[in-house]
Amino acid sequence: PPDVAQLGRSSWTLLHSIAAQYPETPSSAQQSDLASFVRLFSRLYPCWVCADDFQAYVARDTPRVASRDDFGQWLCRAHNDVNVKLGKPVFDCARWEERWRTGPPD
Ligand code: FAD
Repeated sequence: PPDVAQLGRSSWTLLHSIAAQYPETPSSAQQSDLASFVRLFSRLYPCWVCADDFQAYVARDTPRVASRDDFGQWLCRAHNDVNVKLGKPVFDCARWEERWRTGPPD
């Protein structure tokens, strides 16, 4: 079976990196691609207890795909939901872009 923690770190890196590269003003095709990706990801994620909870999260907080910031903030909330479940610190979503796209200001 996969190492759930290693799989998680790698997967969050992929997801937040997708958010970081997502356009500020995506086309309708890009928006529907991202919404489909998140839905399929939540069904295929190879940690089944994780996937069940993530699908439930997606059902109660619909993925926001209208802009980079909308998706980045949504993903940060989704990641925080898992952080709370696991007893990890809540991440300050105001710092999402600094962590995953721009790096810290100098
Ligand atoms: P991670 O949580 O992997 O985070 C990596 C880095 O992301 C952190 O170091 C930090 O810099 C940054 N970060 C942290 N929080 C945020 C945030 N809110 N927004 C932006 N950046 C942030 N594990 C389980 O044991 N049970 C589960 O049910 C479970 N469900 C998961 C569901 C999904 C969809 C995913 C992708 C992972 C899940 N995991 C689950 C794995 C878990 O979330 C962690 O990835 C794993 O425990 C390793 O944690 P970590 O402390 O290395 O940091």
